[in-house]
Amino acid sequence: MNATAETKPVINLMQVSKSFGSTQVLKSIDLDVRPGEVLVLIGASGSGKSTVLRIMSGLETADTGEVWVNDVPLHESRRAKEIRGHVGMVFQQFNLFPHKTALGNVTLALIKARKMAPADARKRGMEALDRVGLADRAEHYPSQLSGGQQQRVAIARALAVEPSIMFFDEATSALDPELVGEVTEVMRGLARDGMTMVVVTHEMGFARKTADRVVFMDKGLVAEQGSPERMFANPQNERTRQFLQRVL
Ligand code: ADP
Ligand code: MG
Repeated sequence: MNATAETKPVINLMQVSKSFGSTQVLKSIDLDVRPGEVLVLIGASGSGKSTVLRIMSGLETADTGEVWVNDVPLHESRRAKEIRGHVGMVFQQFNLFPHKTALGNVTLALIKARKMAPADARKRGMEALDRVGLADRAEHYPSQLSGGQQQRVAIARALAVEPSIMFFDEATSALDPELVGEVTEVMRGLARDGMTMVVVTHEMGFARKTADRVVFMDKGLVAEQGSPERMFANPQNERTRQFLQRVL
């Protein structure tokens, strides 16, 4: 939330294009994200939002253009994996292991991938669960938790590796409406603490209240971007206007 125009971007996409087969999904995208900034991506289904997140997090490589994240050139495909341990991803599906407790889910990667001692991992895991307000549910299994709580565990799991950037791809889309608020509240807390975040969401309330900048994507292009105040009150692009009319 302390983003200023002078700071160097932590994410910088320059003329990034991506095709799947004969479908061009991203058409020369330019996009940057500043330290501590909360960037919210909106747009119709199929406009390329998830592909942007996957490229930023090293899960997918661009066909052309440059992708810099934390000074790592992810467009050099052999280097894309370097970023994965430094960013956190939260998806629509929580994908928790049902036979592991909340804490077990949060510590798994720390113990298996990071080779952390179990006691250290548990300490780190409890801190992460505390951050999402679930320290008292550490020994619960996913089936004993609500969908909102399960998604908060998934956020804690991502936070436990101490990422410098968090990506959220429709993190609340699978939740019953009454459970959305507890998850967006956790996300707002991270934003307040200065986490750099790129968030794909249909929650326009979240975008309005928490985004530093809103980016509207349309058919693989960044059609318009600006402050949430400006984007919602006075969209310039006809497609943005139509989209907002449908979702607001
Ligand atoms: P959004 O997240 O905005 O809905 P996506 O980035 O998921 O958009 O997808 C953009 C387009 O790319 C869609 O037409 C989708 O079908 C296509 N696409 C995405 N991933 C793949 C893939 N791995 N293989 C083939 N097509 C894909
Ligand atoms: Mg998507």
